[in-house]
Amino acid sequence: MQKIIDAHVHLSERQDDALIRFARMNGLRYTLEELLGTMERYGITRGLLLSPPLQGTLALPNDKVIALCARSGGMLAPVVTVEPTAKDVKAAVKLAKENTKEVKAFKVRLGYVKASAESPVFSGLYDYAESEGLPVLFHTGDTAFSTGDLSRSHPLTLDGLANKREGLTMVLCHFGNPWFEDVAELLYKHPNVYADISGLITGSKGYAEKYVEWLGKKISEAIYFAGGAEKIIFGTDYPVTKHSEALDLVRRLDVEESDKEKILWHNAERVFRL
Ligand SMILES: [Zn+2]
Repeated sequence: MQKIIDAHVHLSERQDDALIRFARMNGLRYTLEELLGTMERYGITRGLLLSPPLQGTLALPNDKVIALCARSGGMLAPVVTVEPTAKDVKAAVKLAKENTKEVKAFKVRLGYVKASAESPVFSGLYDYAESEGLPVLFHTGDTAFSTGDLSRSHPLTLDGLANKREGLTMVLCHFGNPWFEDVAELLYKHPNVYADISGLITGSKGYAEKYVEWLGKKISEAIYFAGGAEKIIFGTDYPVTKHSEALDLVRRLDVEESDKEKILWHNAERVFRL
């Protein structure tokens, strides 16, 4: 039986969650109950839960992410979000050490915070992640709000870090949208670089059908360039993209069925040790 892992999920159950706008656009209630029910309906057995942005500049505190996962009956596992201050890096590493069984990865919100991937403030985080074999997820490409900083979220800003830290597993979220070819090159060049395909479709504006077609073509071409799908990971970015639309994107890829299976669960299972 086919199983599916969703490596990019958000939830907070808070009124000041900045992703509520996307939930409304998608007609979603954006609750734990809805999320778990939908996962079950689509055969998604595990999900990685990431802190959503709150209104203002902060993200949901990591202890809340861990608490939500604890209520999920083993379906959700936490990813610890790390903000660019010495205090936050220390606290994130401490939290991961206290919850080694649960925590599967870290996340750096490039484009939303005033630091780039190679900022020295993250050194302690990368040291720990590397030594424990914990992947670090990086937001890359387009930001959910018009105030985002694309010069810091561009995927090529991660080339230098991948060069310096060959032992650090790096996952580029949203395939660097719209810089798919740059991500294809990073996947090809660096054995330690992976990418997720989450959050690429949201709402329906003009040319929605053409856009999804284009997206399927772009991701397929990246797979041809990289010479395989071993490093591409499925994710929804719930509530930004609906489960049905995220899965439809995988269905559209012009690649072997075995590669779709790698994208849907094999790769995530291996990279996040699920
Ligand atoms: Zn996200």
